[in-house]
Amino acid sequence: MASPINVKLLLIGNSSVGKSSMLLRFSDEQWLPEDEASATIGVDFRVHKMEVKGKKVKLSIWDTAGQERFRTITSSYYRGAQGVILVYDVSNRESFDALPRWYSELETYVSPSVVKILVGNKLDKEFSRQVSTTEGAEFAARMNSLFLEASAKTAVGVKEAFQEVVEKIMETPELWAPVSPATPDKGGKGKGRPSGSSMANGGMPGSINLRQDSEDASSAGGGCSC
Ligand code: GDP
Repeated sequence: MASPINVKLLLIGNSSVGKSSMLLRFSDEQWLPEDEASATIGVDFRVHKMEVKGKKVKLSIWDTAGQERFRTITSSYYRGAQGVILVYDVSNRESFDALPRWYSELETYVSPSVVKILVGNKLDKEFSRQVSTTEGAEFAARMNSLFLEASAKTAVGVKEAFQEVVEKIMETPELWAPVSPATPDKGGKGKGRPSGSSMANGGMPGSINLRQDSEDASSAGGGCSC
């Protein structure tokens, strides 16, 4: 039986935009009431199995677990990701204005072929919306990203966001079925090993200590001197 394709997804975006809530909603079909959620330390990792276009996919989805509050997201967090979900809060302009910074981090740390989706979360807060759908969609198009609005609270759009990224990844085989450098002409499908670069770089639960790599950001990344 074919082993599943391993896919590593990341959630990034400003603090409090709802990244952990989206992950909980997607993987555990759970929603923590607002007051409880803010008291809970972010989720940091979830594995989720799904089937896309007849292919079994094992998603490992990483959440920043609050690292972004200290501006210390490290290169190891980004390493090996095939998809990135960039989240802002439609009722918080600042979280939208911060997106160029998040995109420039991506430029530094992930390959250009990585699939990106921009998600405007908290769609249920329509009454206090500060970023229009059109604005979000236009920005996403400029940044070569998919786009969707969602609500972790009502569940609208959440599953779709994950599904869309994974579908796009599946349409981009170079992201998950790397051809071995030794056999460039054989169209190798990476059989015999779980394919996907995520496993080659520690995409398994507990195998990365996000904190220990803080100095790594300058050596492995694009020379960030922060
Ligand atoms: P993170 O810091 O980006 O991981 O954000 P959290 O998931 O911790 O959410 C921050 C706050 O926003 C919490 O109080 C959540 O309950 C709330 N929140 C998250 N998603 C939504 C949403 O879709 N709608 C509403 N109204 N609140 C949300």
